[in-house]
Amino acid sequence: MTIEQVATAVRGHFDRMRTAGCGFADARLYDEDASQRVVLYDGNLESNNRGLERGIGVRVLYEGAWGFAATADLDTIGACFDRALTNARAAARLPGFPKEMGPARPAKGEYRAPVVKDPFEVPLAEKLAFLTGIDERLKDDSVKQRIVHARFQRRRIHYWNTEGTDVSRFVNNTFATMMVMAPDKDGRTQRRSVELYSDGSGTRGWEWLTNPDWFSGHAERIKRELFEVVAAEPLPPGRRDLIILPGQGFLQVHETIGHPLELDRILGYELSFAGGSHVRPEMIGTLRYGSDKLNCRAGVTPNSPGTFGFDDEGTPQRDYYLIKQGILVNVLSSRTDLAEANAKAGSEVVSESGTAARACAFYRTPIDRMTNINIEPGEDGTLNDIVAATENGIIVDVPVSWSIGSNREHFHFGTEIAWEVKDGRRTRVFKNPTYQAHTLDFWRSLDKVGDKSTWLLQSVPNCGKGEPNQIMELGHGIPVMRFKDVQCGEAEAATKE
Ligand SMILES: [Zn+2]
Repeated sequence: MTIEQVATAVRGHFDRMRTAGCGFADARLYDEDASQRVVLYDGNLESNNRGLERGIGVRVLYEGAWGFAATADLDTIGACFDRALTNARAAARLPGFPKEMGPARPAKGEYRAPVVKDPFEVPLAEKLAFLTGIDERLKDDSVKQRIVHARFQRRRIHYWNTEGTDVSRFVNNTFATMMVMAPDKDGRTQRRSVELYSDGSGTRGWEWLTNPDWFSGHAERIKRELFEVVAAEPLPPGRRDLIILPGQGFLQVHETIGHPLELDRILGYELSFAGGSHVRPEMIGTLRYGSDKLNCRAGVTPNSPGTFGFDDEGTPQRDYYLIKQGILVNVLSSRTDLAEANAKAGSEVVSESGTAARACAFYRTPIDRMTNINIEPGEDGTLNDIVAATENGIIVDVPVSWSIGSNREHFHFGTEIAWEVKDGRRTRVFKNPTYQAHTLDFWRSLDKVGDKSTWLLQSVPNCGKGEPNQIMELGHGIPVMRFKDVQCGEAEAATKE
């Protein structure tokens, strides 16, 4: 079937669903959902997995309850709508706050991710030659394990709903990691790694991966830093100022700002799966989440896996503040739960969709997902300026272990490396660095935010949430940040890899 034939069939079934009493219905056609993952382990091709899926997922809203169904057989779209309606009728008999979509906002348009050279057009031999070249640079007698890994996605998605929305998106994503590992004198494996990153501009295809500034050019650096970690002493426990580079800052933001601000978590819908949130609906608009220096947006970064044009309710992606000068002003939401949040808060705390409704595949239903959760650059200069202003601190980079409270109210992170800062100068390297704090105390202790020169876009290819689990890709644009007087200490055994 062509896209137009599917669209015509879907519109016919929309009419049928309205006649059956549905207030809203939508359909997402994945005309192509392609993936490829190539892994080199110690220079050997460990895996080359390719995936290709095509199908349609439909939702209907009946008496305040959702019904969902999906099929890979486009000749059975009618039966698929019927199953969704049966599911919605069953769900409508269960207790629960009635779902509603709010005012209709029909959208039309198309989004295309910026790509010069589509990685799916690059032959496997060329991919292997590129990744092997990086592996060669990671080789050393003292390096015991090497991993070079790249992953590619290409999706062509069409969306329609009963309000007249008709949008398409064509998305390419590229992810890559390189890592070197070696044992220290205590027999513990140390590691150093880098993920493909950017400054948030540019394009998202093969040309991004092969730009040495964003990936391959860091091979020698991580090898050198691994040897420094292996030779280093453990970080002595104590309270210090903590300077976080974007390679660690992205996970700090992800776990202690992004996840707790997902509205479905705030409302308790994820409690038995991914966990809850320390934020309650009535706190939106007033909670002091961090210091005045904390400005966090759900951003539409030009080049990021968290930029997609239209979410899975067809709403054009918005760019808006989540936290402004430290105050929580908004959350990550879809259209569906706004009324419930406002009812539970006792006043209007959310007024429009945060365009965060996203599904990981045609056979999954959209839930509230992070987009680009970005910290805005500040006015405290470069990394060197922040180091020069620090008497007693450490700089940390790249997560190794993490343990987060189920409501995201406190956390414990271990990182690959720490550099000591004494009297304004970066001195020696420490191994096994960790730090821990309560989420709000921590963000309220943010006292320096680096300028645009320190701001980098980090990709997350594997955020997991929902039941059944959905793996989602997104981005975090993060400057260098300094936090005052944080508890730092030697790592216990890693709590969660
Ligand atoms: Zn996550």
